[in-house]
Amino acid sequence: MTTRWFAMTRREVTDKLATCPDKGLDEQQARERMEHFGPNKLISARKTPPWKMFLDQFKDFMVLVLIAATLVSGFLGEWADAITIMIIVVVNAILGFIQEFRAEKSMEALKALTAPEARVVRNGLERKVPAAELVPGDVVLLDTGDKVPADMRLLEVSNLEVEESALTGESNPVKKRVANMAGQEEICLGDTRNMAYMGTVVVRGRGRGVVVATGMHTEMGHITRMIQEAEDDQTPLQRRLEQLGKALVIFCLLVCALVVLLGVMRGEPLYQMFLAGVSLAVAAIPEGLPAIVTIALAIGVQRMIKRNAIIRRLPAVETLGCATIICSDKTGTLTENQMTVRRALVGNTQIKVSGEGYDPKGDFRFDGTKGPEFHLFLKCAALCNNARLTKGEISVGGIFRNLKSGKLTSVWGVAGDPTEGALMVMAAKGKIWRRDLEREEKRVLEFPFDSMRKRMSVVYQKENGQLTAYVKGAPDVILELCTHIYRDGRMIPLTENTRQELLKKNSDMAREALRVLALAYRDLGCLDSIEELNEDTVEQRLIFLGLAGMIDPPRPAAVQAVQACRRAGIRTVMITGDHQLTAQAVGKELGLLSKGARVLTGAELDRMCDEELQEAAENTAVYARVTPRHKLRIVRALKRNGHVVAMTGDGVNDAPAVKEADIGVAMGKAGTDVTKEASAMVLADDNFTTIVAAIEEGRAIYDNIRKFIRYLLSCNVGEVLTMFLAVLMGMPLPLLPIQILWMNLVTDGLPAMALGVDPAEKDIMYRRPRDPQESVFSHGLGWRIVSTGTVFALGTLVAFAIGLMMGQVELARTMAFNTLVFFQLFFVFSCRSERHSILETGLLGNPQLVLAVTVSACLQLAVNYISFLQPIFHTVPLELKHWAVVLTIAVVPQLLGIAGKAVKDRAKERIMYIRA
Ligand code: ATP
Repeated sequence: MTTRWFAMTRREVTDKLATCPDKGLDEQQARERMEHFGPNKLISARKTPPWKMFLDQFKDFMVLVLIAATLVSGFLGEWADAITIMIIVVVNAILGFIQEFRAEKSMEALKALTAPEARVVRNGLERKVPAAELVPGDVVLLDTGDKVPADMRLLEVSNLEVEESALTGESNPVKKRVANMAGQEEICLGDTRNMAYMGTVVVRGRGRGVVVATGMHTEMGHITRMIQEAEDDQTPLQRRLEQLGKALVIFCLLVCALVVLLGVMRGEPLYQMFLAGVSLAVAAIPEGLPAIVTIALAIGVQRMIKRNAIIRRLPAVETLGCATIICSDKTGTLTENQMTVRRALVGNTQIKVSGEGYDPKGDFRFDGTKGPEFHLFLKCAALCNNARLTKGEISVGGIFRNLKSGKLTSVWGVAGDPTEGALMVMAAKGKIWRRDLEREEKRVLEFPFDSMRKRMSVVYQKENGQLTAYVKGAPDVILELCTHIYRDGRMIPLTENTRQELLKKNSDMAREALRVLALAYRDLGCLDSIEELNEDTVEQRLIFLGLAGMIDPPRPAAVQAVQACRRAGIRTVMITGDHQLTAQAVGKELGLLSKGARVLTGAELDRMCDEELQEAAENTAVYARVTPRHKLRIVRALKRNGHVVAMTGDGVNDAPAVKEADIGVAMGKAGTDVTKEASAMVLADDNFTTIVAAIEEGRAIYDNIRKFIRYLLSCNVGEVLTMFLAVLMGMPLPLLPIQILWMNLVTDGLPAMALGVDPAEKDIMYRRPRDPQESVFSHGLGWRIVSTGTVFALGTLVAFAIGLMMGQVELARTMAFNTLVFFQLFFVFSCRSERHSILETGLLGNPQLVLAVTVSACLQLAVNYISFLQPIFHTVPLELKHWAVVLTIAVVPQLLGIAGKAVKDRAKERIMYIRA
């Protein structure tokens, strides 16, 4: 029977689970329980075991055709052919298996990277651990936007509201409480108000609970049908290539059938022609294409991880290359998120604050008198605050890490919201610390900050029962709630004039790129019960204390990244909840506000209809004082204008906009679980430059896919045309089946794979974004494939014809065989760039490719010169004069191509020079 945790008191629960509500478990206990209960994971659908993955390779249509061919050869007693084809089939399967296995492993590694985390208290210290490491008895902290990591009995709540639709289907959030629900016998899940269940989402407030069940023992585990189905992770390109593949199969089969028919009509032996047809089909059909596309994507994704971008949805890799607009949050993404209070206004006095970063050392320089309100101002800053200053420790939430080379350094940092950290530091500079204040009064209530309310308040109670509310938030919002101002030790009514005067001071500070917060308080007297207090009754008739202005400098790299985006045809748009003038000043520093670009505020946006917004969005570079609700409208307007939009987000309310964007980007550090889940990509370092790096990689991946499509298809066209033209012209077969199969292996295998890891071209961020609708064959690729293939075929036939003149048909075939192989092995270097010739890209730019080509060339020489391989591949050793023909034919047309391109480029440069 399941334990009725909700009916027990908190004490009974923690006693039963042998844990401490304050300190949690210790590591030893956690380890022991992990051994007993296992990891906190839902067991998802079983994965394909490696042996099955290997066997699956043989299910491929082309492989089945080859196996059939082997059987036919075997029946006809052609053992050498049968065995060679079999070996080729197995080697192909091994290659395919390795490619698929690697792709799957990298996808698994990705999943592990985006696995949810939980904030747990162990040994009295808060830390973040992977949610899978939770055990029953762990004390876990919940915050807005968190996904509840296990089933928990709640111990403390502060306005905690949880959305439980994943479990109950009910989408209205449930307000949680902690009291036990003993009297109730029959109770449904949705009514257990003192419990929080795995997979549900905290949409408001905070809480603390003790884990009562993990993994498959949770309610979520019981209804496993609720486990999300794996998403279709194929990218549009993969889908398009699959369709292309199918069309090519039909086309190739028809051509091959024609070749066979013509051959047989001309009197070639039936068996020979059957095998030639099969081999040609195998060679012509780019069966390696899907696997190589997956590999290129997987490798690209790995490269992105190295640059701190974690891809959650594979299609995003492709869309990244098409991005035309990045909508980015300001704080922490474009700026350092290292807030420091520089200026304050208390009473009538302007104050300058010295000191750097989060180090609580610094002074106040008063431009006037220091009244008694200053003390209350600092006190409010310290109490209406959830941040904690840290020194030389790995802080809660992993926001601040300064553990270098195993030694603790003594750098100051902040655990929690940097805005609050800055206020905490300011208070500490005035020798006011929260822990000292909390000896005399205790926090009894909190109405948390959220970007819609733009304020936060707390209520403290002294021992004599006296209650005081401390409030802070955006100045325009707070001033609306104030009726008095504390000035020169006196409480005076706040007149409209003073309000305007304060708003002007706020604007002055904002103009200097400062984020400004207003602080206020109110005595609430003594009350019988604090239950009657709510946001509305507390946050009214406030007494204004002052303004604090903090800087948050733009990240220097972000300024360069914005420029890089501009060069790459990508617009950067900043979206912030900050004041218009602060936003404008920061926007200028970042270089966003050049040439007619404008700033739009949330209020202006509200007044616009969708069409007006659509028009305004085209030249808006900064959105200020917006709420997450506005973000969704912005994304939609931009998308309607035909843009491919990347949009960042962190808070729980950002999730809809992030989901709607073409590329939803979530913050790895500051982001909530909900936003991460809605996103296609997570930034491990919350940094704007990482988005730009990911776009660069996205473009490079697409380039690489085009590179090997060009290579593979040109080679295949070359092979098919060689055979087709030969039969058409009544020549003997220039290539034998085994030779075609072999060629397919040496040229399509390693070199094509190496193209998938080709480094990005240097000018990749100097081009305009790609149109997502454009075909893979656009910009003349299709034509180039056909023309290259034709040159290959004609060259090979010329070599064949010369071979026939120089000796026997065996010699001619060996020459044709080598010509076509070396054509391809040289050509692969040209495929490294569509815009630049080898003269610019160099031969050695991709070491893997050099290695792959060397190995393939050696293998090719082996089938020419190793005597026992000669009868299998029907080759004869070539002499120098033969090689002279082969290499001249294979290399000269390509050299001519390179020279032609160089001349054309030079001419283009000269024209540009003349125009300039
Ligand atoms: P950005 O987009 O730049 O990251 P944001 O959109 O997240 O910023 P918010 O954090 O929503 O901006 O802040 C909006 C306003 O709310 C700020 O300008 C500030 O005045 C106020 N504010 C910010 N943090 C707090 C806080 N912890 N407590 C009270 N008020 C706050």
